[in-house]
Amino acid sequence: MDCLFCKIINGEVPSTKVYEDDLIYAFNDIAPQAPHHVILIPKQHIASANEITAENSACVAHIFEVIPKLAKELGFAENGYRVINNCGADGGQTVNHLHFHLVGGRQFGWPAG
Ligand code: 5GP
Ligand code: ZN
Repeated sequence: MDCLFCKIINGEVPSTKVYEDDLIYAFNDIAPQAPHHVILIPKQHIASANEITAENSACVAHIFEVIPKLAKELGFAENGYRVINNCGADGGQTVNHLHFHLVGGRQFGWPAG
């Protein structure tokens, strides 16, 4: 399968690893939108949030368990941060492997652009 994030998981495409375990992989975004911009992905290829089911959602729960740990480690938990999932064309998804952006280290505006 020609999937950029699957290639990052298997090391075919290099990345700066922030966290890894059996279920998930996290790395720094190549074009950071904040002082800290980490991408968290399941190791299983799930194309988008539309493909999350009762059977494969454990990795999503796990990602949300790891997020506060990373935020604390990276030093922006106290000030706050944002977790983003872009789904599909209108959502602005550009890589079709489910991922969550964890961004911190600056003030974010709302509503999102
Ligand atoms: P999306 O727009 O699909 O929500 O997010 C995809 C993210 O992947 C973007 O923030 C983009 O900068 C990041 N990205 C795209 N290609 C690469 C790459 O080769 N390496 C890394 N580390 N990030 C990438
Ligand atoms: Zn993939």
